Amino acid sequence: MKISQLFTKTIKEAPADETAVNAKLLIRGGFVSKVMAGVYEYMPLGFRVMEKINNIIREEMNAIGGQELQMSVFQNKDVWSATGRWQSAKDVMYQFKDAADKEYGLGFTHEEPLAAAARHYINSYKDLPRAVYQIQTKFRNEPRAKSGLLRGREFLMKDLYSFHASQEDLDQYYEKVASAYGRVFERMGLKTIRTFASGGSFSKFSDEFQVEADIGEDIIYLNKSAGRAVNKEVYTDEVLAELGWDKKSLAERTSIEVGNIFKLGTKFSEPLGLKFTDEKGDSKPVIMASYGIGLGRLMGTVVEVSHDDRGIIWPESIAPFKVHLMSLSRNEQAEEVYQELTRQGIEVLYDDRDDKTAGEKFADADLIGCPWRLVVSEKTGDKIEIKRRSEKDSRLVEVPELAKLFL
Ligand code: ATP
Ligand code: MG
Repeated sequence: MKISQLFTKTIKEAPADETAVNAKLLIRGGFVSKVMAGVYEYMPLGFRVMEKINNIIREEMNAIGGQELQMSVFQNKDVWSATGRWQSAKDVMYQFKDAADKEYGLGFTHEEPLAAAARHYINSYKDLPRAVYQIQTKFRNEPRAKSGLLRGREFLMKDLYSFHASQEDLDQYYEKVASAYGRVFERMGLKTIRTFASGGSFSKFSDEFQVEADIGEDIIYLNKSAGRAVNKEVYTDEVLAELGWDKKSLAERTSIEVGNIFKLGTKFSEPLGLKFTDEKGDSKPVIMASYGIGLGRLMGTVVEVSHDDRGIIWPESIAPFKVHLMSLSRNEQAEEVYQELTRQGIEVLYDDRDDKTAGEKFADADLIGCPWRLVVSEKTGDKIEIKRRSEKDSRLVEVPELAKLFL
């Protein structure tokens, strides 16, 4: 992609009402555009990052037998009334009436509609277990939309739901998902801490995946030797005793919850009549679990933990482009490098602009944050200057050597 053709431009100042580092850098870099508090649009650079996050999640969900589907955002009130959440979730769910005074909602999670849909397909123990997921826009009436992409009113979520005949089967699959979550976050360069959190009515705990960061809204107590933590919301003497943890050995941390997994039991299947016939011919409610990851929150989290005062430092796995190539009055040679790398399948963002100073170009490269920077200039002669975004020192390499470095 040539920067002279790019839809977005970098911006000197982020909007004054934006306080979060992730939003400031992502807006300034042209990754996202702000619509209003808690609502962002993904511009081409941001969309590329999002697609890479999508693909990592897809690969890991498919690898544990998840089948991708797409539910409706538009919600039928009856299905939510059956579990009582039409009322109890009124604060978070956007609800409205159409011209005929009929009520609808916008999905903020999908347990109810999925349990309802599953009634058509799950009837027997032979139909279990099953796992389905989607990557879809959710809406939540968040009163505290203040942390940039970390807390949106409209945001992308990956939500996986699993259906089981027995608790043991669910427990096993739940651990499989926890491992897959670990791989998703690791592939994006994030260190997550599996954290005991409140479990709702069917399980003592849910598990959150927390990333240490000052901007985080969660307080967790980290048990370093166990590599696990407990969320402040369940940090009681009783829970610590149950875990066998000593209060004195725990360290308080501020963190961002990037994922959350829940054992739901029959909380949704029972009221919605999602039943199966077991081997003996008895009818039983299906046992469910749900598992969420916030994609925008993930993207924002990566920026929070991986930036410096000049801009973003993307990990290679989700960078919008692998290489930021820059010509300083050597467009002919730079064009050749661009063509050659592109031919080899390497993603290159090429700053071919003639109306920008070297200083402006360097500043943009640091702000956008691609993992590798290449400079072609009078100074570099026949060679190319190469530098990692995360490192200070650059070196000169011959053109034929280049591609090998990236493949
Ligand atoms: P939080 O406690 O942060 O409000 P939650 O526990 O309500 O989140 P879940 O319902 O478990 O969130 O949603 C699954 C995942 O979706 C979360 O782990 C988070 O990554 C993401 N998520 C939730 N709410 C938002 C939001 N408002 N904006 C962006 N991502 C969100
Ligand atoms: Mg949560």
